[in-house]
Amino acid sequence: MIDLLINFDNEEDKKKLFSIMKVLKGEHAVAIKKKRAQRSGMQNRYYWSVVIAYISEETGFTKEEAHQIMGRMFLKYVKTVPDGTEEVFVRSTTSLNTLEMTEYIESIRTFALSELGTYIPTPMKSSTKNSNKPKRIVTPRVERTRNGGTETPSQHIGKIRSALRNLSRWWKPFAMALKAAAVTQHIGKRRRVFYLCAECDRLHDRKEVEVNHKIPTGSLKSYEDLPGFCERLFVEDITLLEVLCKECHKEETARQREERSAKSI
Ligand SMILES: [Zn+2]
Repeated sequence: MIDLLINFDNEEDKKKLFSIMKVLKGEHAVAIKKKRAQRSGMQNRYYWSVVIAYISEETGFTKEEAHQIMGRMFLKYVKTVPDGTEEVFVRSTTSLNTLEMTEYIESIRTFALSELGTYIPTPMKSSTKNSNKPKRIVTPRVERTRNGGTETPSQHIGKIRSALRNLSRWWKPFAMALKAAAVTQHIGKRRRVFYLCAECDRLHDRKEVEVNHKIPTGSLKSYEDLPGFCERLFVEDITLLEVLCKECHKEETARQREERSAKSI
């Protein structure tokens, strides 16, 4: 087997490829695939020892659990399985290239800031020359007064928030809102379902749309927030839900956040 790395912008590289092709005889299978940028060990270390460490610390989940949850939130995609139904799969972080990993980490950082109120620092550029050791994150120690002295109050409430959000993924009105926005198109013999964004009025793939609460669920920081949070999260009235593409959803979330901070002043 010949396994080559060819830069098609480089004439010498191309010559190398042609010279091999000239001497080959008989049938061969030739595959040309794009070289993916290899992820650096540094990015992996930043992911585990900073990004996931913060999520774990804030929510009380183990690092492995936090990693799984973040994957389910930000790396899922929908595929039509042979029986015609759509199923949700989660991409493994090992299959991501540097750019995809950067986008994934940014989604987690945005989520941490808006949902957990936690700022996750960016990777530190100033790494000491001869030390490859990941830097230890020093987070202020909060007394573990909950769950038999194993969790801080914010970890405890974080677990409740996370459990409720997980539960809401199976909330039927969300699926109903999606169904209401679905548009079926026939492309040749194939049948494809697209979703109409309520904001930009464009059709999108399933993986590009999300369900937005017109009345924001707001924050859950203490038991007192629970009734309101649950009431807004688990809406029955699908007119209070809308399907938005990720881009419009991002803008809408930013707008809602601005509104909220303006109110609190
Ligand atoms: Zn849109």
